[in-house]
Amino acid sequence: MDTGADVATPATDTFDYDLVVIGGGSGGLACSKRAASHGAKVAVLDFVTPSPHGTTWGLGGTCVNVGCIPKKLMHQAALLGHAIEDAKSFGWEVERPEKPKWETLVAEVNNHIRSLNWGYRVSLRDNNVDYKNARGSLVDAHTLKLVNKRGEESTLTTKNVVLAMGGRPRYPDIPGAEHGITSDDLFWMEREPGKTLVVGASYVALECAGFLASFGYDTTVMVRSILLRGFDSESAEKIGDYMARHGTKFIRPAVPSKVEKLDNGKLRVSFTHTGVEKTEDFDTVLWAIGREPLTKDIGLQSVGVKLDEKTGKIVHNESDQTTVSNIYAIGDILQGKPELTPVAIQAGNLLADRLFAGATKLMDYRNVCTAVFTPLEYGSCGYSEDEAIAEFGVDDIEVYHQSFTPLEWTVPHREENACYTKLVCLKSEKERVIGFHFLGPNAGEVAQGFGIALQLKATKEQVDNLVGIHPTVAETFTTLTVTKSSGLDAAQAGC
Ligand code: FAD
Ligand code: NDP
Repeated sequence: MDTGADVATPATDTFDYDLVVIGGGSGGLACSKRAASHGAKVAVLDFVTPSPHGTTWGLGGTCVNVGCIPKKLMHQAALLGHAIEDAKSFGWEVERPEKPKWETLVAEVNNHIRSLNWGYRVSLRDNNVDYKNARGSLVDAHTLKLVNKRGEESTLTTKNVVLAMGGRPRYPDIPGAEHGITSDDLFWMEREPGKTLVVGASYVALECAGFLASFGYDTTVMVRSILLRGFDSESAEKIGDYMARHGTKFIRPAVPSKVEKLDNGKLRVSFTHTGVEKTEDFDTVLWAIGREPLTKDIGLQSVGVKLDEKTGKIVHNESDQTTVSNIYAIGDILQGKPELTPVAIQAGNLLADRLFAGATKLMDYRNVCTAVFTPLEYGSCGYSEDEAIAEFGVDDIEVYHQSFTPLEWTVPHREENACYTKLVCLKSEKERVIGFHFLGPNAGEVAQGFGIALQLKATKEQVDNLVGIHPTVAETFTTLTVTKSSGLDAAQAGC
């Protein structure tokens, strides 16, 4: 896309830096270090505005402090709870406590995060990147204003700017919304959450509800429409069904209209459920209704960087260049791109290579694998069945699928056939696999491995030629014979 970039770039030696990156998260740290490794003089600015509840954190951005890392560790805590239950069937004479000790869990997770914060500072120094703990804004296309924690202002000049500010959770526009917390607070919360309402139905909502319910907290998810918009709808519903069978309550379709704080500290939530007005009291309300890009009030539009009117995200071309020629953008602030850590990192590294090492390779935003760390984990890549049918037509799509029970689940008598695999194939291209979906243990690991097959345009026959590793969950992909069009039962009968 031609962004109409219009600002000429003066010579390098007239600036303080070759590159200043605004945002020290996944994308910004990767880009700044890679740029410095090519000999560029680089600074990275990172500043965290405390959440409305006062939670704040150190260097590293969303993923490290309030995203992937604490989330995956809490998910692991939840998996361990289930493992303790299973252990008895394997001869371990242990009893599962009712709940994990919240204070211990949070303290351990937070300690790990702090060690990562420190590690990032050290690695910036080791890589000759100047780190400035200050909020950056643009004065013009080459001049930045910095304001630090004490309110002290300074300016610096740079040849190039990379915007990598990420986003923050959105609050709904309803009375009393301020009583609710977001994922920015949950992982750092000193008191245990207790009875929790999670509002939203995508990654953050289902993952957080999943571990809270697994810990033993009374947990309800309020769903406005569908689960996991953009994912394979059949797989998404299977996740919801599994969660519902294992303790998570769902109210759907429903939207909240008001939150009141009662004298006993509880939060009374008013909501409309299938057209009927209702109320229920909770200890914690967690808003997980999406994220806002941090693109406001930092001078972007006044220097000519165009934002998408609806989302506030940054309009860019295939080189991740904004509408101002020396200003680039990466990560969650990009319009229409996946909000995932490895995407931000890869885009940051490739951009630095193009800017300072003469590379031309562009970021490929297609076929990005992803995993949802719900109690029944979900890994996927490429087209959902729904998208494939919409794009190629039902007659050109063959779907192979199989429900299965992992061997590890048999001895403790966990439920049968809750796990599921699906390959979406394009008939007109020798059944090229254009999407895969996996619900089961270690789904992220499975999806990561099979992702390369999609990138290399593997056909169903080539996947069949792969000899499986037995007994694993991933081998299910190598033995898929039941097509949806056959109407045969996808449940697995034996080994
Ligand atoms: P960020 O990591 O958000 O970093 C931006 C940084 O810039 C922040 O530190 C911010 O404070 C700072 N900043 C903003 N404005 C300014 C300014 N004006 N001046 C100075 N500094 C500024 N992704 C995955 O791949 N896997 C997961 O399992 C996963 N789990 C997640 C779980 C949760 C609960 C959440 C919320 C997200 C999760 N993500 C996950 C998404 C992932 O965290 C983001 O995609 C990723 O962090 C985006 O990186 P970024 O560099 O664009 O921005
Ligand atoms: P998303 O934007 O993905 O989803 C927002 C959810 O909130 C949707 O279910 C939406 O429903 C619902 N919603 C929006 N507005 C309202 C409202 N006013 N009232 C009720 N419900 C509402 O946001 P997330 O915060 O879940 O995730 C943000 C991004 O972070 C993800 O896209 C993902 O890329 C990243 N992430 C990645 C993870 C991973 O890799 N495992 C984990 C967590 C986050 P509707 O469908 O009706 O619009």
